[in-house]
Amino acid sequence: MSFRRRPIIAFDGPAGAGKSTVARQVAVELGYRYLDTGAMYRALALAALHSGVDLRDEQEVLTLLKTLVIDVTGDPAALTRVFVGGEEVTDLLRTPEVNASVSLVAEFLSVRDEMVQRQREIVREGGVVVDGRDVGTVIVPEAEVKFFLTASLTARAQRRQRDLARIGYHVDLTGLAEDISRRDNLDSTRVYAPLRQAADAVLIDTSNQDVEDVVAEVIAHCREHVR
Ligand code: C5P
Repeated sequence: MSFRRRPIIAFDGPAGAGKSTVARQVAVELGYRYLDTGAMYRALALAALHSGVDLRDEQEVLTLLKTLVIDVTGDPAALTRVFVGGEEVTDLLRTPEVNASVSLVAEFLSVRDEMVQRQREIVREGGVVVDGRDVGTVIVPEAEVKFFLTASLTARAQRRQRDLARIGYHVDLTGLAEDISRRDNLDSTRVYAPLRQAADAVLIDTSNQDVEDVVAEVIAHCREHVR
C-alpha cells in the first residue's frame, strides 16, 4: 500500500495581489492548513533590524536565521500568528521598516536554501495552501494546483494602503506605489528564485474582482483538478 500525500495548492504573485487573503479563505473552505512563506522572510528581516545585523551581509543574516525558531502557526481562519523564539511578532511584520528591508534578506541564496528547507518540511504531508513568490517554481514544483495572482500597481497600492491603515500607518498612495514597484523589481530580478509564473500556473488578475469572486474561481478550479 503506497502513501499518497494530500494535495498542495500554490499561490505566487507580486505584493498586494491578494494572495494571502485569497489563499487563507481557500484553505478555510477546503479544510487545509495555510502557510504564508512571506511571513517567514518578514520575521527574519524584523529580527535583523532588531539585532542590528547588517542586512546586506549574507553571512551575518544567515547566522542570525540559524538561531531563529520561526513558528508560523497554520490556522487559516485567523491571520497567521508568527513567533520568533517564542515571542509573538505578528503585529510587527507589516510595518514600513520591514517592508523596506525584507527583499534584501530574501535575496541571499544561503538564506533562501534554509527557508525552502523549512518550508518543505512544513508542507510535506500536503493538505496545505501555500503563498509566496517561489512556491510553484521552487518550494513545491510538484504542487497539484498553482495560481499566479496579479493586479495593477494602483489596485495593489490601494490594498496595501488599507492594510497599513488598519495597523495605524497612514501612508501616501504615490509613495506606496513606488515602494511596491521597488520591491517587485527586487523580487523579479534577483538571481535566485526570482518571482515568476510557473508554466503550469493559472493566471488571475484580481484588479477588478472581489475577493469572494476570486476565491470562488479558485475553488471551482481546485474541485475540477484535485482528486
Ligand atoms: O508575501 P509578502 O509580501 O509578505 O512577502 C514579503 C517579501 O518576502 C517579498 O517581497 C519577497 O522579497 C520575500 N518573499 C520571497 N519568497 C517567498 C515569499 C516572500 O522572497 N516565497
